[in-house]
Amino acid sequence: MDLQDLDNAVVGCRRCPRLVAWRESAPLQHRARPEEYWSRPVPGFGPADARIGVIGLAPALHGSNRTGRMFTGDRSGDFLFEALHAVGLASQPHAVSRDDGLTLFGTRIASPVRCAPPENKPTPQERDNCRPWLAQELELLRPTLRAVVVLGAFGWQALLPVLSAACWEVPKPRPVFAHGAEIVLPATDGGAPLTLLGCFHVSPHNTFTGRLTQEMVRDVFRRAIVVADD
Ligand code: SF4
Repeated sequence: MDLQDLDNAVVGCRRCPRLVAWRESAPLQHRARPEEYWSRPVPGFGPADARIGVIGLAPALHGSNRTGRMFTGDRSGDFLFEALHAVGLASQPHAVSRDDGLTLFGTRIASPVRCAPPENKPTPQERDNCRPWLAQELELLRPTLRAVVVLGAFGWQALLPVLSAACWEVPKPRPVFAHGAEIVLPATDGGAPLTLLGCFHVSPHNTFTGRLTQEMVRDVFRRAIVVADD
């Protein structure tokens, strides 16, 4: 299986009844036509030989659940892609739709939960249901992946067990999420280590209040570039 096979399989998943109902209710909530919404699980976005990963939380109901591409079509994505473009990891600063021409350079964006949850809060069961998709994606990226920027505590906590079950050694007690956290995880099989970098989530809750600025996000990605190129 390659990443394209995985992406194709992800979009057909209906493992979480609550999230299936929620994602498919989105057009009704906005009085839109069903065909205006993706309303399916959102696959990862970026090249198969990415050296940098970006892990968020879950699709936004009227953002990537509408457009079908990670962080595309909402304010969180506007903020993220502005930063990625500024540091040279994205071809343009705006992400509007799946066919807007945006390309990521050496970077792949994924989320621990692939369907939009009510109030952006997946249940622990839904997080666990979705874990195998993230595990498979990381396994496929493993030959090149050297750094992962984790946007927020949910992604951090969801990611650590996946890494631990793969071939990276996660310290005990597990490291706590913080903006600016940097943790190097040695590979247990003699492969390359992976560096985790913590960053506040790019949600309006953080960006509109000034808790997270463009410069703060760009600094994290600049550090990821240095680490990934080492
Ligand atoms: Fe499937 Fe994940 Fe969506 Fe649940 S959240 S239905 S496991 S893709």
